[in-house]
Amino acid sequence: MFSVAIDGPAGAGKSTVARAAALRTGMIYVDTGALYRAIALHMLQAKIDPADALQVVPALSAIKVELSYVEGRQRVFLNGEDVSEKIRTPEVSMATSAVSAIPQVREYLMETQRGMAEKYHVVMDGRDIGTVVLPNAPLKIFLTASPEVRAKRRYEELSAKGAPQNYEQVLAEVIQRDYNDSHRKAAPLKQAEDAVLLDTSNLTLEQSIAELVELIHNRRMETQQ
Ligand code: C5P
Repeated sequence: MFSVAIDGPAGAGKSTVARAAALRTGMIYVDTGALYRAIALHMLQAKIDPADALQVVPALSAIKVELSYVEGRQRVFLNGEDVSEKIRTPEVSMATSAVSAIPQVREYLMETQRGMAEKYHVVMDGRDIGTVVLPNAPLKIFLTASPEVRAKRRYEELSAKGAPQNYEQVLAEVIQRDYNDSHRKAAPLKQAEDAVLLDTSNLTLEQSIAELVELIHNRRMETQQ
């Protein structure tokens, strides 16, 4: 199977770019952030502090997180319930940053992620896909953009959904999450040595997608996969 590992900070456009590129190349898009988000949602619902490993780790045994694809779109299920929308709130984002720093949580989700890459040609996005989850992926991308550009995009996304927040607040959260994700001990966000850097600060969405599609085509030709 051919895998594309895409890592990068929050709000760089990874999911939009990866999903579109997967569609155009006939691959399955796997959004691993959704798995971590489902775990965070469970902790919030169970009134468990997402930063407290002593409470979070035992609670994992009561959770089943699954992915399925409906018309090519990924849906995430938490104990049988489709939580694909519920996991997209700012509150869940912050809680996710906390649970994802716990090594046992990362270990818990490893099998699901590797299982997908064994079964399908995947474009998988996350924070540690090229460095930890799929270290042998034939194509690794580090997709990023400046914090200001990322905050602006997220702000516009939230406004479009009718959940406006102020820009300064969104920027502060982007910076805080970057810090958390890149300073945690367990699988911190960092560019894999053999990853291609794709900075989308000055690219339109269409340009970013086209760039990724070209990288995928070229690498598949080179590796004949
Ligand atoms: O990509 P998304 O913003 O949905 O990810 C939410 C959070 O999940 C990230 O801020 C990060 O803390 C965590 N995450 C992770 N490893 C992944 C994917 C997401 O730690 N592979």
